[in-house]
Amino acid sequence: EELYGFKRWGDGHFAVDNEGFATVQPLGDERKIRILDVVREAVGMGLSAPMVIRFQDLLRNRVSQLNEVFAKAIKEEDYPGRYRGVFPIKVNQLREVVEEIIEAGRDFDYGLEAGSRPELMIALAMHEGTKRLIICNGYKDLDYLRLALLGRKLGKQVIIVVEQLSELDDIIALAAETGVEPMIGFRAKLQTRGEGKWATSTGDNAKFGLNTAEILSACEKLKASKLSDCLRLVHFHIGSQVPNILTIKNAVTEASRFYCQLHKMGFPMGLLDVGGGLGIDYDGSRTNFESSMNYTMAEYARDIVSNIREICTAEAVPPPDIVSESGRAVVAPHALLVVEVVERINKRESLGKHRQPAEKHAIVSSLEATLQNRPRLGKLERFHDAVQKKAEAFSLFNLGYLDLENRAAAEQLFWQICEQIAKEIKKTGYVPEELHELNKLLADQYVCNFSVFQSLLDHWALGQLFPVAPLHRLTEKPSVDAILVDITCDSDGKISRFIDLQDVQDYVPLHPLGNKPYYLGIFLTGAYQDIMGDMHNLFGRVNEVHVFLEDDEEDGFYIEESISGSSVGEVMEDVQYQQADLCRRMKRQIDSATRKDVLKPREGIRLLELYERQLRNKTYLGTEPFSTRPK
Ligand code: PLP
Repeated sequence: EELYGFKRWGDGHFAVDNEGFATVQPLGDERKIRILDVVREAVGMGLSAPMVIRFQDLLRNRVSQLNEVFAKAIKEEDYPGRYRGVFPIKVNQLREVVEEIIEAGRDFDYGLEAGSRPELMIALAMHEGTKRLIICNGYKDLDYLRLALLGRKLGKQVIIVVEQLSELDDIIALAAETGVEPMIGFRAKLQTRGEGKWATSTGDNAKFGLNTAEILSACEKLKASKLSDCLRLVHFHIGSQVPNILTIKNAVTEASRFYCQLHKMGFPMGLLDVGGGLGIDYDGSRTNFESSMNYTMAEYARDIVSNIREICTAEAVPPPDIVSESGRAVVAPHALLVVEVVERINKRESLGKHRQPAEKHAIVSSLEATLQNRPRLGKLERFHDAVQKKAEAFSLFNLGYLDLENRAAAEQLFWQICEQIAKEIKKTGYVPEELHELNKLLADQYVCNFSVFQSLLDHWALGQLFPVAPLHRLTEKPSVDAILVDITCDSDGKISRFIDLQDVQDYVPLHPLGNKPYYLGIFLTGAYQDIMGDMHNLFGRVNEVHVFLEDDEEDGFYIEESISGSSVGEVMEDVQYQQADLCRRMKRQIDSATRKDVLKPREGIRLLELYERQLRNKTYLGTEPFSTRPK
């Protein structure tokens, strides 16, 4: 449990039971589900890994938590306004996720945020009643604005956040044309710099927002067109996953000043929208390191409420209702990706037993001497020797002076020396700087049946870290240091950086593979990862199951819904290949081979069937029993 940090990053939702199984406590109370039980049930339904498991109760729990911490902060601070949060659809657009959030947010009037026209279409249709907000961000064409006004006609509180000055001209023209009174917000380009991987969302070079002069021009335009009463909100967004609470305090202070100034200019206002940015502590270190955060959700709410109040009191402006657009913090914890390890690649073992070339080259003898010279030479000296001699062996090979047998022997000896040094380091504990990389070099590769590009895009694109841990065997001491590689034919398709309390770790300790499936969980993947994935190598969407707590069930859960991952035929159609056309082309070639007697007719039919069946198959590696695979 300690080793993988379940308690640290799990935030009361993830743990390990006495028998070494990873568990989830969706509501943070004593009710637990063994994650491997869900995997087994899904496999029984024909849905094998890779799969996404969504714990719907955990999702609801996060919605309540967010709303409750703001309600508590408002009460404690005796704040006169309300909290009116919205969920940004971009963070996870899946209908079942959005529906669950809307349902869970009913008592809190929790609304939706859209960042594009398609997202606004979801928001308008899924949104209930007229009490919840719909906030419209992103680039907007006329149709986007028409849809927002449609929402207004239905009595919904749809707020168009002006991100570019030109949008305001369109809004003014459409309002005049349709006679619908829009609700308008301004997105301010704050000077407060964000922090972390998504810091460029604000500042002079940010893509979005109005600078101070533009805000003043926008105010003049509103007044000139007699739409002053429509300005209701100031918005900012300093980037996702803000690790440091000080950044948030500063941004809120700056935005509150904007709010107060606009209020004093006579606009009705009423809402201050603090955007997203509320973090997730992916490594559990509670620091301002970029995968973490140095504050809690409750502290976030308290700081926002108290900072806004302080500024408004100083400016003698009535405090606004507070809107936030937290996405990551609401959805990240509810989903995890389950992958199965299908193979272990060990550099030294893959080179086989120690080879003795028929005619041993001097460079091989020299490496042997380094290996045997342990008592005389220090670790670092042996490492330098080995690196230099390996390089020499490769140049000798390139020049034609070393045969394959001797090259293989040289490679084996190099890795043996590295292993010997690594063992000594483990015993002494002291690691000279240059040898830091050694464990990384020596780490095994565990091949996992998934695609980083489909399921963990932010890890590949931005080096974002996610907790990785086995779902079982957690009472057994792990003995293999490994990195994870996926099944795409891309060397970037791997996870080779892992969470650690102190720093990033270059490998994760795992268990040796046996003859039963070995499953790993990649946790906290419910935000952004599902939707941003791409089809590299035509690996498509993974299987998915949606799990609910169930008191009457023996295992304490039931799978309410399952979504089958993409079939080969489906991903083919995405890139314009029609399944029937592909089959016709194959049939033509098989028929021709049969006519030429290259194939027997019966064999031809069998091969065509194989091809056709594959169109219905999933895109990931098949599910033949692990024990029958060659080790
Ligand atoms: N609001 C806006 C305008 C955004 O651009 C984003 C995403 O970056 C969010 C809200 C959601 O942010 P987060 O996931 O950090 O809560």
